[in-house]
Amino acid sequence: MRKFLVFSILISLLFSCKEENDKMRVFTCGIRHESNTFSTLPTTEANFSVARGKDVLKDHEWAKVAEKEGVELIPSLHAYAWPGGIVERTIFERYKSEILTDLKNAGKIDGVYLDMHGALHVEGYDDAQATFIKEIRDIVGDKVMISGSFDLHGNLSADFVKNINILTAYRTAPHRDGEETKARAMSLLIECLKRKLKPYIETVTIPILIPGEKGITEVEPLYSIYAQIPEIAKKEELMDASIFVGYAWADLPRSAMRVFVVANDAKYAKTARTEAQNLAQQIWDKRADMKLDVPSGSIDEMIALANKSEKSTVFISDSGDNTTAGAPGDNPQVLAALLKNKTKRAVFAGIVDPNFLSQCVELGVGREIDSSIGGDKDKTFGFALPIKGKIEFLSPDSIMQTDRGATVLDVEGVKLVVMKSRRSFIEKVDFEEVNLNPLDFKIVVVKLGYLYPELRDIAPEHLMALTSGFCNLEMTTLPFKNADLKSYPLDINREWKAK
Ligand SMILES: [Zn+2]
Repeated sequence: MRKFLVFSILISLLFSCKEENDKMRVFTCGIRHESNTFSTLPTTEANFSVARGKDVLKDHEWAKVAEKEGVELIPSLHAYAWPGGIVERTIFERYKSEILTDLKNAGKIDGVYLDMHGALHVEGYDDAQATFIKEIRDIVGDKVMISGSFDLHGNLSADFVKNINILTAYRTAPHRDGEETKARAMSLLIECLKRKLKPYIETVTIPILIPGEKGITEVEPLYSIYAQIPEIAKKEELMDASIFVGYAWADLPRSAMRVFVVANDAKYAKTARTEAQNLAQQIWDKRADMKLDVPSGSIDEMIALANKSEKSTVFISDSGDNTTAGAPGDNPQVLAALLKNKTKRAVFAGIVDPNFLSQCVELGVGREIDSSIGGDKDKTFGFALPIKGKIEFLSPDSIMQTDRGATVLDVEGVKLVVMKSRRSFIEKVDFEEVNLNPLDFKIVVVKLGYLYPELRDIAPEHLMALTSGFCNLEMTTLPFKNADLKSYPLDINREWKAK
């Protein structure tokens, strides 16, 4: 009896060791950035926030998916920066080198999960994303499965795609499904590993360059086209489908719209191709219908329209200086127009000017300031605007010490928010943090293109001011040289057929 017990324990130990050894292992990493090649403001180390090790996994659905499936994650560096100009070479190379070193030291792995945006562009590189994935592939070899999640505003080249096995992108713009997309990339990776699948990707590149504001998935024509994705992904032979609106403020040969369909195996390439062509052709056929979903015009026209509106609050986007698409955010052109038009009950949220903010901190709440604002970073389209105002709010010390420090002034009846660092007012909390309720004002100016989901949901009305800047919405006014100059709408007579 005793002998049998010892024998059983030995057997169970052996099995548990085997189970431990058999646990699938997935290495995770990412460099997420949307790089605006027109912007003169480089993206530096100071712009990146970085997570490493266990911190990477905190509260993420994709990490929970792996845990539930009994997959061990080996998290390396995940770096993210707010959209901006081209990324400095030294910082990209440092992050890449850290990731590759971790990968070499990771031991035996079954898969790699890439947490990317897809529109990264680095100083001195033609295609840094392709270099990055190629170096990963060279280390892990052909047998290890690489899966990636992307923002649908990414531009993935053929050189990049040839080294990835599975890719999936957001299905909403404005984005509401970031976490869901990342979790899907992880689930698909685990499914492939468990079922020993060899996925195969078909791509159709559509020669269209449109800003995100014309590629909204909540309105037609893209609403109905994106709605087909889940059905396609459900097909027996297929795993996933993605439509990339692309990122047009990147003057690069790879900038375009794209459709990707991932098949379970290369033998289903024809099905994948047919589905990809079908989606791409629908997009091409509707290209002229992809337009702004709100009224647009010059700043003065938008201010006049807002003042005439019966709606209690009208949001106006200062679209040329949209910091969420990489612009510097310190152009005071709309502020100047509000003052010139003697607009009251308006809030300008906000402008980036750390020097102006420091002067306000020194003076204190209740004091008057006579200075000039803006035009420091964007010297191409921006200018310094002389203003006189009364300081009404300063962030508490705990916030003022951080990048989110801000002040609110009253300038001739306009509430002006001045921020320490480059960001946009995209959520209600951004207003709450400076003691403002946007719905208390008739006009709310934001440095955005389309409104982000929370504001989109509460805004009674939204207008798009076609302002100048590095995120100009009129593609034909941008100085493209390297992108496909025959793309729509640079060449409106372009003929094209999905094949
Ligand atoms: Zn995006």
